[in-house]
Amino acid sequence: MIQTPTEAGIAQNPMLCDVDSILQLFVGDDELRASMMKPFVIDDYAMATDAHSLVFFDKSIWENQKPFTDKDKNTYLSVIPTIKNLDKKIQLSELEAAFSKIDLIDEEIEEVTEKDCSDCDGDGQVEWEFGSHSKTDDCPNCDGSGTIEETNIKLTGKKVPNPEKRIKIGVCYFRIYELQKIISTCKILAETEFNLVYQLSSNKISWFIVGFVNILTMPVMVENDNEAVAHIA
Ligand SMILES: [Zn+2]
Repeated sequence: MIQTPTEAGIAQNPMLCDVDSILQLFVGDDELRASMMKPFVIDDYAMATDAHSLVFFDKSIWENQKPFTDKDKNTYLSVIPTIKNLDKKIQLSELEAAFSKIDLIDEEIEEVTEKDCSDCDGDGQVEWEFGSHSKTDDCPNCDGSGTIEETNIKLTGKKVPNPEKRIKIGVCYFRIYELQKIISTCKILAETEFNLVYQLSSNKISWFIVGFVNILTMPVMVENDNEAVAHIA
């Protein structure tokens, strides 16, 4: 029988929930910052970040601990505020209600297709001529592969919340992409509320806590207040 995690159950035993899924919500996808593409342990914390949000919690809860292998761990530790200056409880339902005010747009994905290179007709080789001399060489258009990658925007047929819209929490405006991670964390932990424990100004990091999970999130600047669909807390 499959047991559904309950809030009380997870509070007593955090390992009942899928902590790997929580960490995976926050990893980056930038291949130039490969160290951020997987979660890691620094000192006492399990962490993951994509440079916009950072999640951290007690490393003992994470069974699949992987040590940090990059050079400068202080870059990550130094973003954690040393104090908590707020204690604002926010209901998950409040954040979900804010999401429901966001207009829906067509979801787009980039589709990469390969087609034959037109310069060499897919052969990969071209013949050069100079006077009476000729030479066969790699096609300079496709570097000898014979194919060219083409990127097209395709509609998935699904509707998604407009990513340009913002939600204001306290004094900060956030991308909905960032706040979706808080919603997902609440769902995984079966929590119905989260806490805003630190906020200093509209351009600095905010610290949210969901159960045993700490989430640091960078705000975005907006040109005018209309860009926000809702204001919480
Ligand atoms: Zn070619």
